[in-house]
Amino acid sequence: MSALAAKRHIGALPDLSPILARSVTVLGSTGSIGVSTLSVIAHAREIYGADALPVEALTAGSNVDVLIEQARAIRPKLAVIADETQLARLKDGLAGTGIEAGAGRVAVIDAAARPSDTVMVAIMGAAAIEPALAAIARGVTVALANKECVVAAGGVFRAAIEASGASVLPVDSEHNAVFQVLGGGDASEVERVTLTASGGPFREWTLEQMRVATPKQAVAHPNWSMGAKISVDSASLMNKGLELIEAHFLFAVPPEKLAVLVHPQSIVHCLVTYGDGSTLAHLSAPDMRTPIAYALAWPRRIASPSRQLDLAAAGQLTFQAPDHDRFRCLGLALDSMGKGGLAPTVLNAANEIAVDAYLNERIGFLDIPLVVEETLNAAERANAQAQTLDGVLAADARARSQAGEICARLA
Ligand code: NAD
Ligand code: MG
Repeated sequence: MSALAAKRHIGALPDLSPILARSVTVLGSTGSIGVSTLSVIAHAREIYGADALPVEALTAGSNVDVLIEQARAIRPKLAVIADETQLARLKDGLAGTGIEAGAGRVAVIDAAARPSDTVMVAIMGAAAIEPALAAIARGVTVALANKECVVAAGGVFRAAIEASGASVLPVDSEHNAVFQVLGGGDASEVERVTLTASGGPFREWTLEQMRVATPKQAVAHPNWSMGAKISVDSASLMNKGLELIEAHFLFAVPPEKLAVLVHPQSIVHCLVTYGDGSTLAHLSAPDMRTPIAYALAWPRRIASPSRQLDLAAAGQLTFQAPDHDRFRCLGLALDSMGKGGLAPTVLNAANEIAVDAYLNERIGFLDIPLVVEETLNAAERANAQAQTLDGVLAADARARSQAGEICARLA
């Protein structure tokens, strides 16, 4: 954008300075959502000035070189790498910058606990549970991209949010869309919340084709560019199953009011239907920088580098019911949501292990639902157990080891 256009842009907006002064911590900055978050922040600094959205901390799993590069560009006060063996390299890479360096699982949790106005939770998997809870405990705004933590520990999250008064803003595109459509209002008058699913790369594949699908084919998503794990979840439709459970916890919508519609163009992200026959939808180009920008600026709006929606170019928007026979993960997720207790915790842990085994070519694509189902059956007693943090972490660990054994048997 030219300087003049930028000026006009700023001139047209009411005072955004309180929003732009918010400090941000990004957990999982080197992943797909993390990189998109930093691009939204960099764009805001270009448009609104170099002081916009100061960064308190960045954390990453093991990709130390990308973390160093990001820290040098975005200038956080602290950079943390979960993999402790990389601390020396991180310190070296940050020498002379004045940026503090830290390492280890606890350092990631401590980074979330440091004072900042917004915490973006973009760590993959149940590893995000404790850092996300540390941010929630501060009662600040938590932009939640990670869905596994709400699936695994929804009851614990709900209690923690109530206790601290934190504002948890969903970043997952469908949930961000529902949040926007509800206008922050409650969902009690809602008749149905429908999440759309692209259907993934195997939408039209036969079971025979899926049986021999390679990880490379599974992560080649038609509309979204995402981390490997969520890409496989999108191909198996487990992603949509996890998202139904996520919606159940975030919006307190009962399972019977939740629905899924396959929409291959990924332009309509949700439909919210009321008893009077009205259905409200949220549309945008499939670009995660839109929900990320919304979460960073909520309840206002800032400019983002997202692709703009072009409906004429999109041409047709189509919808179809999901095929539960070919995509069994969806039904498994629905069952575990119905059972409640620790069943979703077990579902999520088993799926994380199965997807990892699939990505490492130890099991086939259609083994993923088998591993999840067998782990759920073995953990039948978990269903009746109420959620506490210790109970969730123990059930998660147990399910991981059980699922690992099942994968080893199938390999
Ligand atoms: P990714 O694999 O690309 O990135 C994950 C990030 O977490 C990386 O920075 C990695 O270093 C870090 N990380 C991984 N394990 C860690 C650990 N044990 N401790 C600390 N850090 C760790 O994943 P992604 O696609 O960016 O997805 C992140 C989360 O957002 C997932 O929960 C996913 O379901 C959710 N999400 C992603 C998208 C998307 O478009 N990518 C959309 C909706 C929701
Ligand atoms: Mg989603």
